[in-house]
Amino acid sequence: MGFAKGFGVTIRQIFKPRVTTEYPKVKREKPERQHGRHVLNRYEDGMEKCIGCELCAGVCPARCIYVRGADNPSDAPVSPGERYGFVYEINYLRCIHCDLCVEACPTEAITETKLFEFSFTNRQDAIYTRRELLVDDDGRARRQPWELWLGGEDDDTSAWMRATAPSGNARYEDRVAWSGELGFGVRDPERGQAVDTGPEAAR
Ligand code: SF4
Ligand code: SF4
Repeated sequence: MGFAKGFGVTIRQIFKPRVTTEYPKVKREKPERQHGRHVLNRYEDGMEKCIGCELCAGVCPARCIYVRGADNPSDAPVSPGERYGFVYEINYLRCIHCDLCVEACPTEAITETKLFEFSFTNRQDAIYTRRELLVDDDGRARRQPWELWLGGEDDDTSAWMRATAPSGNARYEDRVAWSGELGFGVRDPERGQAVDTGPEAAR
């Protein structure tokens, strides 16, 4: 009897749709707030959002960010601020994708895409510099040969999702509070969360 029950389970599993068969050619859709490979964002006019303040490096628990700020050249400023991120590096051999750097950034410069499928064969490739992290002229991640990008994994960045989420509070519904980004403009606010209309929401 026990055998029959066991075979019954096996047979049921055989006819269930398989979800990993085509991987990595086909990827499952990732959650909206997946923490993955970072990007350094730019404003709609192309200016860099990073001001080289080093807050992200200070808060990183894995100590994997290295930033050095420099004064903006007056004839060709890189960012709208006084300074910009002259050197910016993330060591992906240490990053735990906690997103604390994203939380700390005062200018929305650093955010995370959904990509986690990247592996390296040498240490140099694992250390992303400003050249790799800065978005291209379409506001997209600069894709590296060892990264497996399929679909729009850099369409929405995790910090934008959080910053515009009402978190159940009706007062924050439809409020953007996030600056425009190169290639995307001012994004629509996050939707899809139940709005709490109780006494907590009215405070
Ligand atoms: S996601 Fe976390 S561990 Fe990775 S660079 Fe940012 S703060 Fe550091
Ligand atoms: S990414 Fe943000 S927190 Fe980090 S140095 Fe640039 S502006 Fe400061």
